[in-house]
Amino acid sequence: MSGLSATRIALIYPELLGTYGDGGNALVLERRLAWRGLPAEIVPVRAGDPVPADCDIYLLGGGEDEPQVLAAEGMRRTGGVTAAVQRGAVVLAVCAGYQVVGESFPGSDGLLHDGLGLLEIETRRSFGPAGEPVPPRAVGDIVVEPGPALGLPPLFGYENHGGRTRPVAGAGGEALGRVRRGVGDGTAAGTDGRVSGRVVGTYLHGPVLAQNPALADLLLTWVHGGLPALAEPPEIELLRAARARALEVA
Ligand code: GLN
Repeated sequence: MSGLSATRIALIYPELLGTYGDGGNALVLERRLAWRGLPAEIVPVRAGDPVPADCDIYLLGGGEDEPQVLAAEGMRRTGGVTAAVQRGAVVLAVCAGYQVVGESFPGSDGLLHDGLGLLEIETRRSFGPAGEPVPPRAVGDIVVEPGPALGLPPLFGYENHGGRTRPVAGAGGEALGRVRRGVGDGTAAGTDGRVSGRVVGTYLHGPVLAQNPALADLLLTWVHGGLPALAEPPEIELLRAARARALEVA
């Protein structure tokens, strides 16, 4: 994208996928564009509405088991996110959103549900042997060391999920990173999240882009190419200091 046309940021089903303030990710992207003099528009997509296929960035947040089934069904039915990804749009999917952009995930009904298949991952309550108790919910702070190709500092956030997630056999893409503290995907691989093309999935709430502005700027770079210099307001320094303290204890 170039020129003065606004970057369109779709906030998908905030009533269904919006636990832990994940809708804040849209504000962070909008602000970081505005501070650079670039226009942006947040496009909230209510549950039941068709998902526009012409946005630049799609944000999916966390949600409880039942709402996330409804969200997956809505997105599969209207096809907007999938069509947008096919023409190069960026997706950031958090927790339930991460599970939903994968191939399959468990619902509150105990059944497996189809996701969008944008990431070649699958989510289950457990990948352990049948009959073994399912692992406890993953709840607490999480720190992830991103894969070197992403050029990002450690990612800091909060997680609260029952699902465990792994790549399917032969999956494309890479893990977002290695878990330094917390659970993340919760498999022996010790990873969190997945990046495939311009689709990013992670278990990090925070909102993750408020806690990790470098990740926000990476997504914006995917849309804009190079980004102009940023005149951040002084409050952002407070965030940086809080981040540094949190990482010290991680
Ligand atoms: N319902 C999903 C799980 O528990 C995701 C939870 C969330 O988004 N916080 O695994």
